[in-house]
Amino acid sequence: MDKVLKIGIIGCGAIGKDHCRRIMDTVPGATVVAVSDYVPAAADETAAKYGIRSFGSDCDGMIKDPEVEAVVITSIDPTHHDYVMKTLAEKKWCFCEKPLSLNGKDCEEIINKELEIGKRLVQVGFMRRYDRGYAEMKRIIDSGEIGAPLVIKACHRNVSQGPGFKTENGVTNVAIHELDICRWLLGDEYEDVQCVKVRQSANSTKGYDNPQVMLMRTKKGCFIDVEVQVADGYGYDIQCEVVCENGTVKLPDPYAVVRRSRPAGWDSLNPAESMPIMTDWKERFIEAYDIELCAWVQSVLAGKLTGPSAWDGYVACVAGDAMNASRGTSQFRKVETMEKPELYK
Ligand code: NAP
Repeated sequence: MDKVLKIGIIGCGAIGKDHCRRIMDTVPGATVVAVSDYVPAAADETAAKYGIRSFGSDCDGMIKDPEVEAVVITSIDPTHHDYVMKTLAEKKWCFCEKPLSLNGKDCEEIINKELEIGKRLVQVGFMRRYDRGYAEMKRIIDSGEIGAPLVIKACHRNVSQGPGFKTENGVTNVAIHELDICRWLLGDEYEDVQCVKVRQSANSTKGYDNPQVMLMRTKKGCFIDVEVQVADGYGYDIQCEVVCENGTVKLPDPYAVVRRSRPAGWDSLNPAESMPIMTDWKERFIEAYDIELCAWVQSVLAGKLTGPSAWDGYVACVAGDAMNASRGTSQFRKVETMEKPELYK
């Protein structure tokens, strides 16, 4: 019989439940055998739904359990570093949702632990790399057909944020996706970055900056401009255009269907062309999450990880640290990483 990877999930919130459903229903070669969460009832509820074991709030016990071969970390951002380290202490496979940690220094510890083990065991949930739109953009850029990339113009807009969200989380939790996808698209590394405060939206009523404009310059001299709105009042809107020497590539909108009609209740005689904008990240990248977890399981079963590594998680966090440190200074901050170890080349 084919091998089936036995997974334990830490954190049964929005994405934890979604990944659990995904692994149980969609991903071949894997099954969830156990779940845990800071709130025992959340773990119990998910476990009951699938008839699997709940470790309640004993996340550490779940990591150590001999039946659990791989750990998926979907708890809140500040918990990622500790759970990754505990999973590595057991020398188990680990899929950690973004960000790998809250800062570059904590990621460094993870890298050092992997180096000590001598094997890549950690994959970071940078699922955009598995999105068909981004993948096709990268294929065209890498082909060289439209010349070298020069500039990226992007935006990341979220509808709203939960309690406790802070200005710096616009980088560590939100723009971390941009910090990963831009260097991946360009095959380039950051030289320096800057976060600029611009005119604030009337939706900014909870004490955090919104919008923030994030600027990145790469070692090859590309310029990247990302508008980040964490409360845009209308939808989850992700856009990206890469300007190359002889053309541009642009991320397609997720819906292909354009509606042309006279909207009901509209008293104007003029018809309109419209396309829905999603409000939920779960829908926008649903296919990318499916492909990401299928690819992760296949690579684990093959014994060699191929997806975004602890190094990628580290670089994004180091750039994020510089981005946050630059806020209010009107100056670019250098992105200074350690030398890339052989394991990640
Ligand atoms: P969420 O709905 O708040 O779920 C997080 C869960 O973790 C909650 O049940 C929370 O319990 C629990 N938790 C809190 N502290 C914990 C601890 N010390 N140990 C174990 N569990 C703990 O958040 P979410 O939206 O699912 O996000 C979870 C993670 O996934 C975040 O790191 C986020 O950045 C990441 N994420 C990634 C993507 C992506 O696009 N790749 C999308 C969404 C989320 P309480 O409710 O009591 O806090």
